[in-house]
Amino acid sequence: MTTLINTDLPLCIGCNKCVRSCPVGTSNVTFLDKRNRLKVRIDKTRCISCGSCLEACHRGARHYVDDTESFFKDLADGKPLSLIMFPAVRSNLPEYKKSFAQLKKIGVHKIFNLSMGMELFVWANLRYLENYKPHTMISSNCPGLVTFLQTHRPELLPRLSPIINPTTILANIIKTHLGNNDGLAVVSACLANSVYINQPSNNLRYNISISRLRDYLIKMKVELSDDTPEVDFDPIELGLDTTLDFNGDFRTNFRQFLDSDLRLDRLHGTKYFPILDEYATAPPETLPQIFDVAGCEGGCSMGPGRVEEIKRFVTNTFNYHDQLAIQRDTPKETLLKRQKRFDEIFQLDNFLTSYSSSPMVQDYVSEDRIKDAYMSLNKHTTTQKTIDCFACGSPTCFEMARKIALGVNLPSNCVLLAQELISQSNKKISDYLTLVRLIGEYMLASGSNDIITTIEHSLMALCSSLDISRSSIWRTTYDINELPKCDLVISFPARIHFTQNTINSDLLPGWLETLSDGEIITKSYTDLTTREKLFFTGRNIGVLCMIPIIAQGDFWGIILIARRHNQTFTREEISVIESSAFLIISSLIAATYDDPKFFDNQLLTSIL
Ligand code: SF4
Ligand code: SF4
Ligand code: SF4
Repeated sequence: MTTLINTDLPLCIGCNKCVRSCPVGTSNVTFLDKRNRLKVRIDKTRCISCGSCLEACHRGARHYVDDTESFFKDLADGKPLSLIMFPAVRSNLPEYKKSFAQLKKIGVHKIFNLSMGMELFVWANLRYLENYKPHTMISSNCPGLVTFLQTHRPELLPRLSPIINPTTILANIIKTHLGNNDGLAVVSACLANSVYINQPSNNLRYNISISRLRDYLIKMKVELSDDTPEVDFDPIELGLDTTLDFNGDFRTNFRQFLDSDLRLDRLHGTKYFPILDEYATAPPETLPQIFDVAGCEGGCSMGPGRVEEIKRFVTNTFNYHDQLAIQRDTPKETLLKRQKRFDEIFQLDNFLTSYSSSPMVQDYVSEDRIKDAYMSLNKHTTTQKTIDCFACGSPTCFEMARKIALGVNLPSNCVLLAQELISQSNKKISDYLTLVRLIGEYMLASGSNDIITTIEHSLMALCSSLDISRSSIWRTTYDINELPKCDLVISFPARIHFTQNTINSDLLPGWLETLSDGEIITKSYTDLTTREKLFFTGRNIGVLCMIPIIAQGDFWGIILIARRHNQTFTREEISVIESSAFLIISSLIAATYDDPKFFDNQLLTSIL
């Protein structure tokens, strides 16, 4: 298994912090969930497992999966297993020697110090520089950076140092030089180490974060006391007296071995990865011989898999003391002697690899699609297209348009568009309220003699405000079997007739049952059955909607509305139609108090 970063969607609030922190613009995909809430998930084909979003998400909505559980299960099943520990373990687990003793007690064979892999990595890079004299090269020890170049900046791969990474170097040596065939787990604060797992040249099979290892030991109630014995790293027999602790970044470690004034520049932190684009185009005479690039700003000990409580100055102190110890206790001649020893044992060729680009990510978008995306953002002028406020998580409006064109972001995630939509919607709501008030005033002003004209005016106002082509009101009565039927009371425009002036379950089977349950029916004309179409025949209808009017708990009747085109009715529109219908019906009910035969005598006969 490899490490995977996931989103816990119920916890995500769509704040875009992860989008902002991600060095790969397109690996965070914004979408609307079923309840129309903005959420951000990860596209695993684009994600480089750098973990920056884990650090950025303050809602705990990002988490990772590693191999801790499977490692300990396999250990319990009796598989021969050993560990490669990053030096970060010393700052992350202050009592690491006692933890080592416990790990050995439950069956771990050997615990190796990655520092030896780093020392060999430095040796191989030095020899490569001497032999091949590249004008400039990018260090290759950070898996997040290497994956980033392979998937998103393949044009820089020729500048990447061809030396295999320290973890793989050590895993190869454990197998070939030490003859140890145990399955290996790499334990570090780096989640991106997952890319090294299951390569054929060695036995690296598990990627474990220090944080999960610590949690596992706590869960297993591994208690450390004063009596717990201490166990150190296992030696790596390469004819050297000791393993030196190469903690800290590549540039610092590399400098320990140099007696030349080789220029090494450093760039740590995924948020600085855009500077790689500058590096790609900078004049050659301005470039460093070695560009030490890594994803974690605070170094490998401060990766996203670290123990959470560990603070930067704790790890800085460890790094400082390790570097001091090498400088103070290990003269340069000793370091160079160690390098000579490597010359005797190893061939540089065995430390070389070639990096190829990953073919899976296609991020090209045509200009036409960018134009469409700008349209969807309602951005037409240069000023509108260069607001570049970063609120959507993209540093520029262009980048956001590109993401929309690629289908990984949504126009509604633009804060300016959202504001525009809110103000449009506020205006709509205010128009709706005005309409309902107008209808209310019509009703108040009408007497029982002119009520029919008043209702016609109300329906007309409703039709013109909401782009409705016809509306009608139907009143419920019950037949002798107590089955509901609805009779036409009034329609606007009046000249529009239905084939029948009564709706019953023969004409529209099931409709009245649904409506009497208080449910609204909305249908596109094309979806009607042949029998249903007969009822609405010749009406040039695109979409229709029937809303039940429940008055004083009874199914009083319905309002039927229709549009010529296919645009369905929004929730807000339905509410305004329902409220207007309720006002109209209140007046009709009042009219029946004055004249109990009101419906029989006036409406149907006079209007139809
Ligand atoms: S940082 Fe990303 S994953 Fe976390 S809540 Fe915000 S949008 Fe969701
Ligand atoms: S792990 Fe890194 S690359 Fe993947 S989504 Fe998070 S920030 Fe982006
Ligand atoms: S204006 Fe909109 S698209 Fe442009 S950066 Fe701001 S939020 Fe993103």
